[in-house]
Amino acid sequence: MLDTTFNTSNPRGNFDFEPCFEINEVEANSGIRASFNGLLQDAPGCSTSVVNGLSQQLIHQMNSIVPNALVSFDDLNVELEDAAFPFLQPSAKQGLQQAILERGIKMSVNSAYRTIAQQLLLCRWGSGCGYPVVALPGQSNHQSGLALDVEDPDGWQPFMERHGWRRLGSFDPPHFDYVGAGTQDLRDTAMLAIQKLWNKNHPNAQIDEDGCYGSQTENALNRSPAMGFEKAPWDEKPRALKLSRPMMEGSDVKRLQESLKRAGMTVSIDWTFGPGTDKAVKEFQQKKGLKVDGIVGPKTLEKMA
Ligand SMILES: [Zn+2]
Repeated sequence: MLDTTFNTSNPRGNFDFEPCFEINEVEANSGIRASFNGLLQDAPGCSTSVVNGLSQQLIHQMNSIVPNALVSFDDLNVELEDAAFPFLQPSAKQGLQQAILERGIKMSVNSAYRTIAQQLLLCRWGSGCGYPVVALPGQSNHQSGLALDVEDPDGWQPFMERHGWRRLGSFDPPHFDYVGAGTQDLRDTAMLAIQKLWNKNHPNAQIDEDGCYGSQTENALNRSPAMGFEKAPWDEKPRALKLSRPMMEGSDVKRLQESLKRAGMTVSIDWTFGPGTDKAVKEFQQKKGLKVDGIVGPKTLEKMA
């Protein structure tokens, strides 16, 4: 028998229950993403990777509100599903890193952080896509930055448990929560992120920045562009651009590609930092006598100006 709510490490209490295994299965079988240049409310099912652009803006905005709220773990020894956003709170990442090092093999991750944009899609698509019960945006344990669904959970369990992670239970086999110290509740931050992003792009149609999920916020989310807003959070606070999983996409990547082109590199301007852009960045760095690491930080940007 299933309860409808479960206590997690979150000091504010319960998250709604979601059967992760089934959700992961649908995501995995939904095929690779196709670009969708429309509003979230019109996004076709069934892979939440269709909203990658907006999701990256939301994560970046959260990190602008709370520095290092979420950090990427795509640099660890992990294999990632297409729709998985490899983000955790820093202490949870540290525990994960130790578990992976200790076991000494690659971990297959089906799901980690899920943005409120992805969560809204899951809710709307629901059974039409074969998704079982899903929680409302903000109410899924995958919005905590402390959750992970993995392949071979039995094999990982002892290693994870030695480093602050706890298996949720047999009713949700792939799911682990980080219960170690040094974590925080990010649910308000996730709501504030969309509210701030929306207001920045709609100076004449402002919504409340209250960190709560109400109809105003849901409407705003539904009317957000799946590929992200024109005015992005990295306009004020640049992110270090590099080849990562999922691939970075957005206006900052487009500007980089234009600069590379002006500098004589061969690159297509497709807004996505893929292997071609990585190659062009490294060629540029070599040409300018910079460290050839493919990471576009302040030094590389300076040479591009
Ligand atoms: Zn899960």
